[in-house]
Formats: sequence, C-alpha cells, structure tokens
Amino acid sequence: MQNLSIKQFTEMILKLAEEKGFGTEPKDINTMEKIALIHGEVSEAMEAYRHKKMDGKDGLAEELADIVIRVFHLAGIYKIDLEKEILSKLENDKNRKWKWEDYNETHS
Ligand SMILES: [Mg+2]
Repeated sequence: MQNLSIKQFTEMILKLAEEKGFGTEPKDINTMEKIALIHGEVSEAMEAYRHKKMDGKDGLAEELADIVIRVFHLAGIYKIDLEKEILSKLENDKNRKWKWEDYNETHS
C-alpha cells in the first residue's frame, strides 16, 4: 500500500475524471450539482452506518471514500489546496472553544 498525498490523490482523481468525462475545470461542471452529489454520499454513509453495514459494497468505508473522492475532485477543479486548508482549520480549532450548552448536538 502506498502513501499518497492529498495532492497526489487529487491528481489521480482529476486524471480519471478527464478520462471518464466528469469534468476537470469549472466550465465543465455544474458546481451546485457536484456539491449536492457530495451531500448524497454523506447520506449514503449515514444509511450504511444505520444498517450496520461497515465494510464491502455500499458499506460505511466505501461511502466515506466516495465522499473524499468527490471532495477532492471538486477541490481539484477549483485548484483548492486542501492540505493547506485542512492544516489551517486544525490550527484554528486548537484554540477554538465550543460552548456546547448553545448546541442541540451530541458531543464527547
Ligand atoms: Mg456512494
């Protein structure tokens, strides 16, 4: 198993997208549709977990991979440096405080 960087994964996904006709530039795609498709994969992940299907076809693991592939594809189309953005967000979150009492959300 090779360890690929986010940039390398994004390049692989863009290459496949070009070969399969999924679009590699903003003019090629409907961005709102691509975002909706990411949302669709998130819903599939929720359903997989809900049905206790963790592995295999349509399992949680595969659906999480689908989410990441679609996110990397969209980021690649817009030339977004996801590694930089993730590191920036994580750095911000180090010092961020959440007021959990203001949320109607489970946390641990
Ligand atoms: Mg899926």
